[in-house]
Amino acid sequence: MRIDLHTHSSVSDGTDRPENVVRRAKEVGLDVVALTDHDTFDGWAAALAAGDETGVEVVPGAEISTNLRGHGVHLLAYLVDPAYEPLAAELGRVRHDRRTRLARIAAALTAAGLPMDVADILAHSPDASTVGRPHVADAMIAKGYVRDREEAFAWWLGQGRPGWAAKYAPDIEEAIHLVHAAGGVCVLAHPWGREGARRALTPSAVEALRDAGLDGIEVDHQDHDDASRRTLRRVARELDLVVTGSSDYHGTGKLDHELGVNTTAPEEWERLRSLAGGSGPRRDHDERTWSP
Ligand code: AMP
Ligand code: ZN
Ligand code: FE
Ligand code: FE
Repeated sequence: MRIDLHTHSSVSDGTDRPENVVRRAKEVGLDVVALTDHDTFDGWAAALAAGDETGVEVVPGAEISTNLRGHGVHLLAYLVDPAYEPLAAELGRVRHDRRTRLARIAAALTAAGLPMDVADILAHSPDASTVGRPHVADAMIAKGYVRDREEAFAWWLGQGRPGWAAKYAPDIEEAIHLVHAAGGVCVLAHPWGREGARRALTPSAVEALRDAGLDGIEVDHQDHDDASRRTLRRVARELDLVVTGSSDYHGTGKLDHELGVNTTAPEEWERLRSLAGGSGPRRDHDERTWSP
């Protein structure tokens, strides 16, 4: 039983269409795959249909942009009711601000000597409900400014670089509350993957999030070295949090994140799934009363 709970499609900043993420999951021998595009549910219908076609179990999810004391932290949400309005509205607000941020990033790059228009960026995100810096990076590659997304982030788009611009994100405890109210479960994505988040997500900060309802942490992720994985696994055990492992697949948009490169143990996934649907206004998710 091979389970990968973190992937992106071209509905956000991955490069494969949602149905092709699922078909590829079949090819590499995955039994369960979650589609977790940034701040949107728009890939679910195509992914679930491809799940029916291939026999791969598709878990509907999202990677929500949140804010923890000024640091950007990613929260994976699974099995939420997409019709639960307070969560849908919050994600809509994030997506809207991501669109207006493109103009701020384009202006900053232009001022730094790299002429850029929002239209140039949008030309590189034809399927995307959620636009982001990787699409800016693709536009920069097309203009010959950088070789790849990696270089674009390192020199221009990362925090503190000339093309960086802030975006709106809900407070993480509010996001956890919304996910539960929508009948879902939530897992901290790559908590120690980036320096800023690592500083913010101390074990006691993770404990506070657990007390606010956090269900699990993504321990096995390519951005975590072996020492980080060991420590995070211990933190998870001590806090009684579910442990997941995932690829964070982005197609050709991110190297070294191939589907199934990290996986989640079946008993951890069973526990996570059993925690869904426990609270809030939502129907039992197993009844699938919503249409994705
Ligand atoms: P944004 O959502 O616009 O803030 O951009 C963050 C996204 O960019 C995340 O999905 C990351 O996976 C991706 N990302 C961050 N750093 C890099 C990098 N060095 N190369 C490629 N993608 C990156
Ligand atoms: Zn991404
Ligand atoms: Fe992430
Ligand atoms: Fe991700």
